[in-house]
Amino acid sequence: VYHIYASPMLRLGEVDGAVVIVLDETQQRMAERSRQEFSANVSHELKTPLTSISGYAEMMENGMVASMDDIRKFSGSIHKESLRLIALIDDIIRLSRIEEEVKEPQSLEPVELDDLCEAVMESLEPVAKKAEVSLHLETCPAVLLGEDGMLSELVYNLCENAIKYNHPNGNVWLSLSQDEKEITIKVKDDGIGIPEESRLRVFERFYRVDKSHSKQIGGTGLGLSIVKHVVEYHHGRVELDSGLGVGTEIRVFLPKVIE
Ligand code: ADP
Repeated sequence: VYHIYASPMLRLGEVDGAVVIVLDETQQRMAERSRQEFSANVSHELKTPLTSISGYAEMMENGMVASMDDIRKFSGSIHKESLRLIALIDDIIRLSRIEEEVKEPQSLEPVELDDLCEAVMESLEPVAKKAEVSLHLETCPAVLLGEDGMLSELVYNLCENAIKYNHPNGNVWLSLSQDEKEITIKVKDDGIGIPEESRLRVFERFYRVDKSHSKQIGGTGLGLSIVKHVVEYHHGRVELDSGLGVGTEIRVFLPKVIE
């Protein structure tokens, strides 16, 4: 959006010239709109579990729950929705912290990515076991100047998704490779895949493919948005390939040294 202000310069009653000011508001407006959309989305996402919690609690309060079984069912739902709320708030805080840091990068330190990947895979072992998914890791010694906590989160989110959106007996492969300039983190799965029209959108905040199916799986829709911001923080880039019913591969390229 360009705004053009023109004002003639008058001298002794004659037009001598003109002052033209061209103001580019595109960036500003887009940032403002994205902030507004984010607030609207956050309110909506927070309201949904809270409405359920308050509904269940009200029914219990009014004595509308007769049996012990019902009480167990209702309090179970309240518990589940509260956990969802906590996860959501955690992710929102994490995302806004990373967004702030992208604006003002903190000092970077050498991070041993092979150790980091091993630790993430180990922490996801119980999740994979429960989902009956096998984890495979292929690393090489790789050191990157970066932010340890953010990079762990990036690898964790990618691998957790690869487990979550998968089938029993599915597989997740995490691999590290490098050349002289950059390190590639690749997370591949043979899970449900992402439909073509959603492939560009999955990095948006709160975007989830097939909301009803995703709701059963659990998640906030913020994981890949966090990945995108961490990649941005490290001046890297991300690529995604996916086939419905075939699987998904996400590659993150990170420069070893940020210039
Ligand atoms: P969520 O918390 O829902 O997992 P993400 O931002 O991590 O949020 O991912 C956004 C959406 O992208 C997910 O809800 C899911 O529909 C889709 N998605 C992400 N990773 C995968 C994957 N490996 N396979 C299939 N779908 C995926």
